[in-house]
Amino acid sequence: MVGHWIDGAPRASASGRTAPVFDPATGRRRAEVALADQADVDAAIASAQRGFREWGGWSIAKRQRVLFAFRELLNARTRELAEIISGEHGKVVSDALGEVMRGLEVVELACGFPQLVKGGFSENASTDIDVYTLRQPLGVVGIISPFNFPAMVPLWFFPVALAAGNAVILKPSEKDPSAALWLARLWSEAGLPDGAFTVLQGDKQAVDGLLHSPAVQAISFVGSTPIAQYIYEEASRHGKRVQALGGAKNHMLVLPDADLDLVADQAVNAGYGAAGERCMAVSVVLAVGEVADPLRAKIVERIDRLRVGPGTDAVEPDMGPLISAAHRDKVAGYVGVAEQDGADIVVDGRGFTVDGHEDGFWFGPTLIDGIPTDSRAYQEEIFGPVLSIVRVATFQEGLDLINSGRFGNGTAIFTNDGGAARRFQSEVQVGMIGINVPIPVPVAYHSFGGWKASLFGDAKAYGVHGFDFFTREKAVTARWVDPATRGRSARGGIDL
Ligand code: NAD
Repeated sequence: MVGHWIDGAPRASASGRTAPVFDPATGRRRAEVALADQADVDAAIASAQRGFREWGGWSIAKRQRVLFAFRELLNARTRELAEIISGEHGKVVSDALGEVMRGLEVVELACGFPQLVKGGFSENASTDIDVYTLRQPLGVVGIISPFNFPAMVPLWFFPVALAAGNAVILKPSEKDPSAALWLARLWSEAGLPDGAFTVLQGDKQAVDGLLHSPAVQAISFVGSTPIAQYIYEEASRHGKRVQALGGAKNHMLVLPDADLDLVADQAVNAGYGAAGERCMAVSVVLAVGEVADPLRAKIVERIDRLRVGPGTDAVEPDMGPLISAAHRDKVAGYVGVAEQDGADIVVDGRGFTVDGHEDGFWFGPTLIDGIPTDSRAYQEEIFGPVLSIVRVATFQEGLDLINSGRFGNGTAIFTNDGGAARRFQSEVQVGMIGINVPIPVPVAYHSFGGWKASLFGDAKAYGVHGFDFFTREKAVTARWVDPATRGRSARGGIDL
């Protein structure tokens, strides 16, 4: 049974509610995960409150030592964590390693936190009066994460939250819950006091318990747009700070002057890597003018060479299975919708299996051409290995199409024309932009977040936004008079 982590130790759940955790490559159950009830939520919150009283009082120097220790442990054991991720999620181990490394970046940023939380000081703002700001932790904060990055997404938030002195309750996805427990154990080894990092396993009941508790000061959520919107509204209604990152439909705009071999390589990596289960995956290639036919041929050539198989295989495949049978069927449903709406299914991944693993949740790489832009399969997030080519006549038509979408997470332009790229970055209504870079996930010292239905709330993840989100500022105006003058000026009045 995969249980909680409360008071610095594993904790079984008394709820009696569980959910299965699968190996997506075989379709077999690996374990059961506990689903918290209100008693579990209360125990997690009470422990986190004690953890905050302890950890929030530690000096900056002591907290920094724990962060450095955690960084060293994580860096030494990345492979162990990557294998846990691959076993439950299905992504190939090198991809899981990449996820851990991107998370490690945020730990490294957080190690330098004293610089980011030190506030400001204005001496003699008025005579004998100094004004300064303090940045204090919020208290107990909740992180609710999706299945697709069971380590990286929590790592976007908790190193920053902890560095700032908060206590964290992480509610991971019930589909791949083990990475969170492994990380919790690592914090204990690094010297974090009990209760400062808690893992609460569960589903909506656990989430609602956190949203409704007055003890939880802030919620960081990542997941699908409908749930992100619910979390944003419900957490706000309960007076919390909230950042809620949602779904995506990321377009790659290809201008006629682009290097089509480079574009085809990048489109295939960004479209089919992690079986398309990435919020920054490219799902639409917008081909401007005459590039569509040659680009389509180059993408098909590359799809033919893709190897699909279990992520943990010694000879690593390019792409693993999807997370669940239900999700595989949903992805297949979208391909069916595209077909009904008149699209050409150039490469069809429906019904794909891997020899010896027939019960795995497989879906082969799929390429769709000529999808009408009013099709649900174009407008909604599919979250699978499905890439669509949409043909546009001009740069402007492509830009307008991107800007008319409801999501605004990531986008990319491929061109050798610097002027076109500058215009694109200026006019596109999307939060993260790649120029000849297909998956523009910002490094840890810039912040991650989309626009429109891809982010509810004001704060992005990590970087300066992260430290702003996880601290509360106080401004102090203080007068300490000079004993020699007792605050009176040479003229006898009080100086202002
Ligand atoms: P999801 O919305 O189903 O679940 C996310 C979390 O919310 C999980 O912890 C889940 O247990 C919880 N949850 C699910 N239903 C709930 C409900 N009704 N009430 C309260 N909590 C609920 O998302 P998922 O399928 O795990 O992840 C995939 C989605 O996440 C995709 O849409 C993807 O684009 C998105 N995502 C976005 C980003 C980003 O940075 N914008 C990053 C990663 C994933």
